[in-house]
Amino acid sequence: MTVFKLQDYDDHEQISFCRDPETGLSAIIAVHSTALGPAVGGCRMWTYETDELALVDALRLSRGMTYKNALAGLPFGGGKAVIMGNAQTQKTPELFKAFGNYMNRLNGSYITAEDVGITTTDMAIVNQVTDHVAGLEGKSGDPSPFTARGTYQGIKAAIKHKFGRDDLTGVKVSVQGVGHVGYYLCELLHNDGVELVVSDVNQESLDRVVSEFNAKVVAIDEIYSADVDVYSPCALGATINDQTIDQFKCKIIAGAANNQLAEDRHGEELQKRGILYCPDYVINAGGIINISFEADYHKEDADTKVDEIYQTLSKIFERSDNEGATTNSIADKMARDIIKRARRTA
Ligand code: NAD
Repeated sequence: MTVFKLQDYDDHEQISFCRDPETGLSAIIAVHSTALGPAVGGCRMWTYETDELALVDALRLSRGMTYKNALAGLPFGGGKAVIMGNAQTQKTPELFKAFGNYMNRLNGSYITAEDVGITTTDMAIVNQVTDHVAGLEGKSGDPSPFTARGTYQGIKAAIKHKFGRDDLTGVKVSVQGVGHVGYYLCELLHNDGVELVVSDVNQESLDRVVSEFNAKVVAIDEIYSADVDVYSPCALGATINDQTIDQFKCKIIAGAANNQLAEDRHGEELQKRGILYCPDYVINAGGIINISFEADYHKEDADTKVDEIYQTLSKIFERSDNEGATTNSIADKMARDIIKRARRTA
């Protein structure tokens, strides 16, 4: 298996392979950059088919965290951990403590939080052996309303850029996935007079947004071709792909899901079709922004910082127009420039 030649290696500062035979822990901690501060990023537990797939996932996600934190204006670098294993059957307190002990060897250069397959209860166990844990229960709380708030600001910025409008009355938005983030997003949009079209695999979640926000439900596969102004993916990654791209009638894509473009080239495909894409890691940074305030928590401070997502996206849209480059490539470039400047002044 190669490491340094992997496309996703991208000059990571440090990669730790953590194996503890006694507890069955197999984990990878990837620290992409600490140029802006300690590398912050969640820990994921997943059954990977191969070690290489686990490594690539950790590398890709940790670089994403560097870019997300940089563009959110946070004093954090980017990192990510993956624990290889079945989140339903292989969790034990000893395994999480072994993971926490490995984290201590990194002396705070990586700060972990929950991610797919990990709960706040698991993180509380990690926290028994290491202080380098963020987003614990009873601190900054559920990040979802903040992620929704940032996504709402992103939709407003995109509507302003594309249609020159400040208000959302009568705008049509399709929300794919009305779980934690999607529900709060629907609430904000509904309060602004938006007409909602929604899809979800969970009937209870659908019933709630229909009764509370008068949303119209469409079938799972019909969400892409819905006749709306904005498509807001809030469920799965990679929904902008070769199968969906020609179905879109929307003029804007602005949602909370991670890794929305199946491949970078789909950003170019959207641009060719005149669809304004809000880069996922910029628009969905509300949750991590909220966590960044937890040492001395005041909700108003978090809200103010989350609302800056509007300005950040507006800058990205302008540069994209001026330079003719895709919004996703402009966002990557802006993040890399912030990190380069920090390295120069260090
Ligand atoms: P969630 O699990 O609460 O909600 C996801 C919803 O999508 C669920 O209701 C689920 O039933 C639905 N869903 C699953 N498959 C679907 C399909 N094929 N079609 C339509 N709906 C489907 O998750 P969440 O916390 O709301 O996060 C939503 C997305 O935003 C995820 O991609 C997550 O990675 C991303 N995100 C979340 C946060 C946060 O603060 N929660 C922060 C950043 C990014």
